[in-house]
Formats: sequence, structure tokens, C-alpha cells
Amino acid sequence: MLPRNRADYRVMAWALLMPIVVIAQLVNPKLLPYLSPLSFYLAMAAGTIAHNHNHCPTFKNRKLNEAFATWISVFYGYPTFAWVPTHNLNHHKHVNREGDATITWRHTPRNTWYVALSYYFISAFYQSTPIKEYIAKAKRSNPKLHKHIVKQYTIWGAALVGALATGAVLHGPWQGFKVFALAFGLPCLFGTWSMMWFNYMQHVHCDPWSAHNHSRNITGRVFNFLVFNNGLHTIHHEHPGSHWSKAYELHDAIKNQVDPRLNEPSFLWWVFRAYVITAFFPSLETKQVGRAAYDPPSSSESDGPKTHMREQGPLIDSVDALDAGNNAQMA
Ligand SMILES: [Zn+2]
Repeated sequence: MLPRNRADYRVMAWALLMPIVVIAQLVNPKLLPYLSPLSFYLAMAAGTIAHNHNHCPTFKNRKLNEAFATWISVFYGYPTFAWVPTHNLNHHKHVNREGDATITWRHTPRNTWYVALSYYFISAFYQSTPIKEYIAKAKRSNPKLHKHIVKQYTIWGAALVGALATGAVLHGPWQGFKVFALAFGLPCLFGTWSMMWFNYMQHVHCDPWSAHNHSRNITGRVFNFLVFNNGLHTIHHEHPGSHWSKAYELHDAIKNQVDPRLNEPSFLWWVFRAYVITAFFPSLETKQVGRAAYDPPSSSESDGPKTHMREQGPLIDSVDALDAGNNAQMA
């Protein structure tokens, strides 16, 4: 039951808090004004935990890792196996270039508040194809993995229905639905929305052809405490299998090689500048740094493969790769 890294005791504490906060609100709706915002935050935190766990398993034991992934799925808002085909195998390989299901420039290269808000729906639509293909492949050739996927969907769905039913039984259908929505349903939607938007803001107007300007970083300590260092994205692409607690150490080693426009200390100030100010002054929208994702260099301009372009294989939700992944992480 012990995590491989001491820093993950805090991850476990957050994971234990998730059901407590939801149940407390379902039982006592008077707590909603105080705890509902916490549910929204915890759903977002569950997304960052799912991301970290999929790259670098929390435990040594495979069964425990699978159980933890399923637990997090419930509070994040979607089965976390889906990160493997869309994120580990796709996004990490293409890094916002052609072929990435999560590209930020599909309909427009601009970064505006309405593109940022609608990105979730467009990205979710395009991610559904690799997810369906992955499930079909697992069904054909990997029954163990397919069983794991079915289990995640079943437990995730049962938790949603169970929470809705509990709310209705305790408080009547309409009041019960409202309690469910504020304590669990909407936070789950926010969990998936926030993860997709993070992906957007970490790559929009970055240069996937460069060695270190392929991602945008939020470097503030408080923000990164809350999201388990998911703000440090350059080094995440360059060392996808490293533990999240090592992120600052790795970031410090390359931060001076990153364009200063892509090292942003304040998350809130970036959001305010990028979306609130530009709603009134579009000329202040973020600008492309270096070469755009849709503008590949000619072969003579290319200086060879970049470390961040390597594919990050699945570690948790692909049973095939699980043992090899774990061994690699332990080395
Ligand atoms: Zn990743």
C-alpha cells in the first residue's frame, strides 16, 4: 500500500479527501456553499493526479495501480485509461503538430476566450476516435486490458448513478439532482474540461519544432502545489516518465533556454491577460513564439529529432506495457 515516492503521500491524502467531500455534501446540503468549490478543485486535482499516475505509476504493485487509476477516474470525471491513446501515445508523440488529436489550431490559430472555452468540445470529439480504436484493439487482442477498461467504465458509471440516486433518496428528485450536480456532476465535468484546457494553454502559440519552446510553463509555487507540478510542462515533455516531485529540479536546469514568454510565474495573471484584457483589446492576444505547429521546417532547416518528440508509452492502462513500464520507472 506504500507509494514508491514519499511525495505521493500527499496524493493519497487528496485521493482520500475526494469521496469524503462528495459524501458530506450529499448527506448535508447545507455544506454545499463551502464544499462545492472544493469539489471543483479536487476534480481538477484528480485530473493532474491521473496524468502523473499514467506516466509514472504511484505504487509498485500492478493491481494497486489499476485500482488507484479507477478510483481517480471516479473523481476526475472520466475513465483514465483514455489518457493512453489520446495523451501518452498521441499527444506526447506529435506535440501539437499534425496528427495530434488535441491540436490547439484546428479551426483558428488565435487564442481567445471563446476558443479556449469551446476547445473542450472540439478536442473531446476528435479524441473519441483514438479512444474507440484503442478499445476495439484491446477487445480483439488484449482481453486483460479490455476487462480493465470495462471495469473502469462500470465503476465510473455506477458512482455517478449511485450519487444521483443517493441525492434523490435523501432529498427528493429535484433537490437531490441539484445537490448531486453541485457536489459531484458539475465538478466531474470541470475536471475533464480543465485538463483539456490545460493542454490547450500549455501549447497554444508554442513552437513544437524547437528544443525547449514547445510548451508553456506556469512556474508559480502555489499553483504547482495545487496541481502536483503540472504547470511545468517543458520538462514534462522532455522527461515524461520522471516523477512529478522532480519537476522543479529538471525545470531549473533548462529554464534559461526557454523563451521568457513561455515561463509565466502567475497562472491567474496569464488567464486575465490572455482572456479578459483581450476580450476588449484583441491586439493584445498571445502571439506565436517561434515556428507554428502547422509550419514544418524544410529538411535543411531541421536540426534532427528533438527529445520531446519521442512517444511516451502507456504505463498504467495498458496491461501489456505495464510490467515493462514499471521496471523502466524503477531503474
Ligand atoms: Zn503527459
